[in-house]
Amino acid sequence: MKLLLIGSGGREHALAWALAKSPKLTKLYAAPGNAGIAEVAELCNLDTTDHQAVIGFCRDHEIDLVVVGPEAPLVAGLVDDLEAAGIKAFGPSKAAAQLEGSKAFTKGVCDEADIPTAGYGRFDTAEDALAYVRKQGAPIVVKADGLAAGKGVVVAMTLKEAEDAVTACFEGSFGEAGAEVVIEEFLEGEEASFFVLSDGTNALPLATAQDHKRAYDGDEGPNTGGMGAYSPAPVLTDALIADVMRTIIEPTIATLAKRGTPFKGVLYAGLMIGKNGPKLIEYNTRFGDPECQVLMMRLKSDLLDLLLASVEGRLDQMTADWRDEAALTVVMAAKGYPGSYDKGTEIRGLDTAATDDVAVFHAGTKRNGTQILANGGRVLNVTAVGATVHEAQQRAYERIRDIDWPEGFCRSDIGWRAIARESEG
Ligand code: AMP
Repeated sequence: MKLLLIGSGGREHALAWALAKSPKLTKLYAAPGNAGIAEVAELCNLDTTDHQAVIGFCRDHEIDLVVVGPEAPLVAGLVDDLEAAGIKAFGPSKAAAQLEGSKAFTKGVCDEADIPTAGYGRFDTAEDALAYVRKQGAPIVVKADGLAAGKGVVVAMTLKEAEDAVTACFEGSFGEAGAEVVIEEFLEGEEASFFVLSDGTNALPLATAQDHKRAYDGDEGPNTGGMGAYSPAPVLTDALIADVMRTIIEPTIATLAKRGTPFKGVLYAGLMIGKNGPKLIEYNTRFGDPECQVLMMRLKSDLLDLLLASVEGRLDQMTADWRDEAALTVVMAAKGYPGSYDKGTEIRGLDTAATDDVAVFHAGTKRNGTQILANGGRVLNVTAVGATVHEAQQRAYERIRDIDWPEGFCRSDIGWRAIARESEG
């Protein structure tokens, strides 16, 4: 099969690496890709916001399946346009991607199917939103409704912070995404992520993960797209997973099917595990980045088979097999990230080939002759497998010691919570 992968991050490098292992794959293209993806795919110069151009490329190159990595093309309806042109594409339709594209949409699905989630109100004027915030008091959570690249959420510990967040949203800090605001009850507990694959009817559980969103050690500092992750998440026991499938995932898939907008693709549930059981914080409609990197290290099944079964509605016939070991990834970012940072600095020490146990996925790199240059905020995902999270962590940091990139930094404590649990147990 000939595939086209859309995206350029560490998630897409991990997907490309896993797809390249499939005996069914004859050719992999990636648009736009990065220097790491180029090791397993041919990069193509394609404007992926121009759906007609993507369709044209697929026809010219006889693409059998398009795999869409990031959320923006999904929300923009790339999968719908490809399917209308008779080209198979992995990922949800524009309508189903609203589970990620609109927080108010997801809350509506939760109401309809009685899915456990934080209590909320939704508002389209600052006045009403402020009145609600003042009535509820802090702590409280203020969210811009639409896609805001992970920046549209403020967990306000004081009323003043909540009021400022509401004002910022309606003053246009998040553009269109902030025209409507969702205000939520503050949930207490431990966060974890759960990934399932759906074909519109069936939901196949994949795996669990936890990530670190803050930039610095001890989970301090500004929020980022994610500084590291590990899988599995010890907090999500088999019993809790069964509970999440029954009370959250299955009702969601059934509701979207009933509405005539079935969900196909990866459903990524952000969960809060509290005293009263798991509650849904949010959905994403694609693999997480960097969670995908740890999932792909643990996946034993053929990724291409699984993605194709999602597209073709055959997931009831599939299983996903996982290595029992833990996988952990450490994000190396350009100094200054998530604020301003330099691009174009040289990274050395990357030449060791990926093995089944240690892989350096590229998140933001480009090649310049023989040099690999940093080309983004999050630049590398050093990923390793171990018998325990602790062992995986040690292997990842060992690999990092060989990477020579003075302009980069990483956290030194990825996995601390799971490791503490391991040493208790
Ligand atoms: P979201 O973009 O909805 O995932 O929110 C980003 C982060 O804000 C989450 O990963 C949580 O850490 C936090 N958060 C979101 N909603 C809540 C909530 N209702 N209670 C507590 N924390 C939340």
